[in-house]
Formats: sequence, C-alpha cells, structure tokens
Amino acid sequence: THFGYKDVEATQKADMVAEVFHSVASKYDLMNDVMSFGVHRYWKRFTIECAAVRPGMRILDLAGGTGDLTAKFSHLVGETGEVVLADINESMLKVGRAKLQDRGIVGNVNYVQANAEALPFPDNHFDVITIAFGLRNVTDKAKALRSMQRILKPGGKLLVLEFSKPQNAAMQKAYDFYSFQIIPRMGSMIAGDAESYRYLSESIRMHPDQETLKEMMIESGFDQADYINMTNGVVALHRGYKY
Ligand code: SAM
Repeated sequence: THFGYKDVEATQKADMVAEVFHSVASKYDLMNDVMSFGVHRYWKRFTIECAAVRPGMRILDLAGGTGDLTAKFSHLVGETGEVVLADINESMLKVGRAKLQDRGIVGNVNYVQANAEALPFPDNHFDVITIAFGLRNVTDKAKALRSMQRILKPGGKLLVLEFSKPQNAAMQKAYDFYSFQIIPRMGSMIAGDAESYRYLSESIRMHPDQETLKEMMIESGFDQADYINMTNGVVALHRGYKY
C-alpha cells in the first residue's frame, strides 16, 4: 500500500474490466445463454420475484449491462414508475439501450453511465436496487455497497445476485473444471476472445463467498442481510434492507 502501489493495482483492475466488457458487449447475451445453458434466465427471474416491484416504484438496475432486469422492471413499475439502468461501460449501455428500444421498452427507463463506487443520485432515492453479476467486477466493493445504501430509501431493498461458492465438493470440482477449461474455449469459439472469459472465471473464484458478502453488507449499513443459494450455491441472491 506504500507509494500508491494499491492505486496502481486498482486502476489496472478497472481498466481490465472496461476492456473485457467493451470486448464482449456485442456477444454478451448469446454467451450468457450458452455458458449457463440458459439457467441465468431462471436466476434472474427469481431475483425479479424477490424484488416485489410494484407500480410507481423507482428502481435502480446497477451494472445493468444489456438490461435483462431493466426490461422486466419497466413493465412492473408501469407509467408512473421509473427504472434507471446504470453501468460504467459505454459499450454495454449502448447494446442494452438498443435492445430495449427495439422491444418498445421506452418511456420509463433512463440510462446513466456511472461507477457503482460513486453513484450520482440523491440520498434516499430508490425503492429497490439490484446489481446482478456486477459486484464482483467492482474494485472497491465496500465503497460501492455504502454508495448503494446511501441512495436507497428507508424501507428499501438491495438485491445482489452474484456467483458464489458451490455448497458441495463435487459441485465445486465440476464447476472449476467447467469455468477454467470449458468457458475460455467457448469464449474463444463464439466471441473470439478467450482472455476475457478467463478473466470472468478468475473473478468468480476471487469473489467473496456467501458469508463474507453477507458480513460486508452488514458492515456497509444494511439491515436484515441474508442470502438464498441457487444451483447449489453456484449463484447466491443476497438481500439487505435499509431501515
Ligand atoms: N446485470 C447484467 C446481467 O445480469 O446480465 C450485466 C452483468 S455483466 C456480467 C457486469 C456489468 O457490470 C458490465 O456491464 C460492466 O460494465 C458492469 N460494471 C463493472 N464494473 C462496474 C462499476 N464499477 N460500476 C458500474 N458497473 C460496472
């Protein structure tokens, strides 16, 4: 941490994440379906159910990328509600906006380029915040969680959907083989980019496990933090509230 060494590392991580998502943006949706055998749709559907969004609510889909969650929320909040899709990456935002506009999802959706670590919204602003498969890409996760806590309304809810730790050894083994042997090859075949997908697998392994992330949420000021494992803990949905 001396001589600004840590800052150099942080900048390198942010640059690499930017490069990865610029590179994969156009193939992102296809790759999600292929790599997860379509199961990411189920994980997202469950997240949307837990969000319990009602008409008129104001929702933030953080690290929203190509907008799968935003599209659903837009229908649920109706004309009187609002959904903000925020993402740090211009390429992902462009692909997301084009996709949603093609589907006629307009009117109650706004697009904002923003870093999760420093969210440009007022205090106590959103009823629900979701961040799906985004937190592990953020350099300073605690800072990002505090930033989310600040802009959540009292009574509001944060949902963090993220890869996590498989709950049994056999699953962990199969999963490691799949992510380090198969996924980079798929990335190379479909998106012409093995390196980006190697990064993604690496970032999944480095990400805090269920209990660690739960603690981080509590330390960042969230109440009633808990999580629900899906697919044997390959993915976990973390919930936290602001009282
Ligand atoms: N939420 C979408 C989904 O579930 O399909 C996209 C997930 S994608 C794996 C991760 C997204 O996080 C990318 O679009 C990336 O640009 C975004 N991201 C990475 N770091 C970020 C940061 N510091 N602030 C905001 N977004 C970030």
